[in-house]
Amino acid sequence: MTPTADDVDAWFTEHLHLEDDTLRAARERAGGAGLPDIAVAPAQGAFLATLARLAGARRVLEVGTLGGYSTIWLARAVGAQGLVTTLEIDPHHAEVARTCVDEAGVGDRVEILLGPAIETLPTVAGPLDLVFIDADKENNAGYVRAALPLCRPGALVVVDNVVRGGRVADPADDSPTVRGVHEVVELVAGDPRLEGATALQIVDRKGWDGVLLATVTG
Ligand code: SAM
Repeated sequence: MTPTADDVDAWFTEHLHLEDDTLRAARERAGGAGLPDIAVAPAQGAFLATLARLAGARRVLEVGTLGGYSTIWLARAVGAQGLVTTLEIDPHHAEVARTCVDEAGVGDRVEILLGPAIETLPTVAGPLDLVFIDADKENNAGYVRAALPLCRPGALVVVDNVVRGGRVADPADDSPTVRGVHEVVELVAGDPRLEGATALQIVDRKGWDGVLLATVTG
C-alpha cells in the first residue's frame, strides 16, 4: 500500500517524538470535554515553537485558544520569563484551556482573555515578538491590523489555515472563510509595515492546509 500524507505525518510524529505525554494529555482532555479536533497537529505545534525560538520570542499573542494545545507549544518556547496571551470567545474552551496549560506546568506564563478577539486584542500589552492567528477566518485581516501596532520591529506574524484544501485558489469559492484568507493575503502583500511574506502548504493528519508568514518591518 502506498503511504499517504497522513502516514508520513504519523511517522514523523512518532520518530521525532513530537508529542510528549503532557501534550497528548492536553489533546485528550480537550477531546473528552467535547472540543472539536481542530488543534494544530504535533508537527505544526513544533514548527510554531521553532519559529518562536528563532524569533527569540518572549511575548506571544495567540488568537484562538481552543483547549490550549498550540498555547502549550508556544508557552514552552517563550521560556519561564515569557508570556503568551491567548484570546478565546468560548468560555468552555477557555476553561478547558486553563486546566490544560496549568497541568502542562506553563499556566504561570499563559494569560487567557475571554471574549471576541476583535474586542480583547486591542487591550493586549506589547511589544509582541510573535502573533499566531487561528480563530474565525473572516476576521483574519482585522486581527493583523489590530496586532501590528503592538508588534516590535522584526516580529513574526503567522496566520493559520490559509490553503483550506486548495479552496484559496478556486475563483468560484466565495465562502466567508476563503474571503477572509483573500483579505489577509491582500493586506499582508500591500502593507508597508510587513515584509518577506510567504505561504507554506502543510499536509498532515488534518488534511491539506497551510500558513501565511510575514515579518514586521524593522
Ligand atoms: N490554536 C488552537 C490550537 O491549535 O490548539 C486552535 C484554535 S481553533 C482552530 C479556533 C478557536 O477560535 C476556537 O476555540 C474558537 O472558539 C475560537 N474563536 C472563534 N471565533 C473567535 C472570536 N471571534 N474571538 C476569539 N476566539 C474565537
